[in-house]
Amino acid sequence: MIIKSLELKNYRNYDELSMNFASGTNLLYGDNAQGKTNILESIYLSATTKSHRGNKDRELIKFEENEAHIRIHFEKQGIDHQLDMHLKKNKAKGVAIDRIPIRRSSDLLGQIPVILFSPEDLKIVKSGPSERRKFLDIELSQMERLYLYQLTNYNKILVQRNNLLKQIRFQNNLIETLEAWDIQLVKYGSEVIKYREKFIKHLGEVCQKIHNKLTGGKEKILLEYDRDVGYDSYLTELAKKRQKDLKYSTTTVGPHRDDISFIVNGIDIRKYGSQGQQRTAALSLKLAQIQLMREVMKESPILLLDDVLSELDSNRKTYLLESIKDTQTIITCTGLDEFISKHLPIQRMFQIKAGK
Ligand code: ATP
Ligand code: MG
Repeated sequence: MIIKSLELKNYRNYDELSMNFASGTNLLYGDNAQGKTNILESIYLSATTKSHRGNKDRELIKFEENEAHIRIHFEKQGIDHQLDMHLKKNKAKGVAIDRIPIRRSSDLLGQIPVILFSPEDLKIVKSGPSERRKFLDIELSQMERLYLYQLTNYNKILVQRNNLLKQIRFQNNLIETLEAWDIQLVKYGSEVIKYREKFIKHLGEVCQKIHNKLTGGKEKILLEYDRDVGYDSYLTELAKKRQKDLKYSTTTVGPHRDDISFIVNGIDIRKYGSQGQQRTAALSLKLAQIQLMREVMKESPILLLDDVLSELDSNRKTYLLESIKDTQTIITCTGLDEFISKHLPIQRMFQIKAGK
């Protein structure tokens, strides 16, 4: 799997851009605020339908313009494909692959498997559970088509149930309808839990091996699914929490409160780890994700490294670059010194200056 070219029109600070990527390591260098991350973002967006920075579509369109276009030529199993994305100010985005429109985002996810790695990701272990759930959801959605379907349904029903809980305050007889929503919620929620359970188990095994190497055998890491509720006891737990849910008008139990715990040498490093431990664990997690994606999708993902090299010490940097040797990578950085002094194998370099 490789991305051959990228074309942008009125995307962020780009009027018009066309670039051809090499199949190995591509380097985007330039001063701050020139448009390096914007390029990675446009690729990430095309692959996942969302900006990794959480922006709305309208914010991605160049100031004063009404539409933006992204075109990517990619090669998959020896066959060339073209992805087109069309962003509009007040309408939903349009996406097409080989000129055939794609209506559901689940049909797009996984077409171009990408992994983005930014300094933010190094904080995943110490940040709140919602960041870790976001990681779970994005990765699983790319790898398992059905996961997104189950998750979307779960979230929809969760919103409806919460609305109903609010209405019941004023209209007590509505309480009779709650049972039906509970059953639906548990149906989809249980599937979400099953997918997460399987994924975290697999990811944890791979992560442990990588972490062992990264720390020279000094640390043993365990990834555990810190689930809010198991699927066997889900319905009973929901019934138990009903009074509480009614009191607070919100659903207080379910996979929307899940987390992953990172246990290093018996200690939960989410709370008690040193900064270095947390960052190393985050790096192991990211590398595990690359490996897992390769295994599951039988396709090597495109790796987008935004400014992370400057955040890692030289051992970890070497390890990272060593482990991504056979992966198409696009790296951003501000200076070239360390690449030149380390003789890193860069296949193609682009200087980015004011959206050019
Ligand atoms: P850094 O090294 O600081 O991370 P960068 O090269 O990654 O910088 P980008 O995040 O890609 O920089 O952003 C480049 C510029 O794009 C910013 O100066 C920003 O003001 C501009 N920009 C962002 N959104 C838009 C938009 N919708 N229209 C026009 N310009 C925009
Ligand atoms: Mg940037």
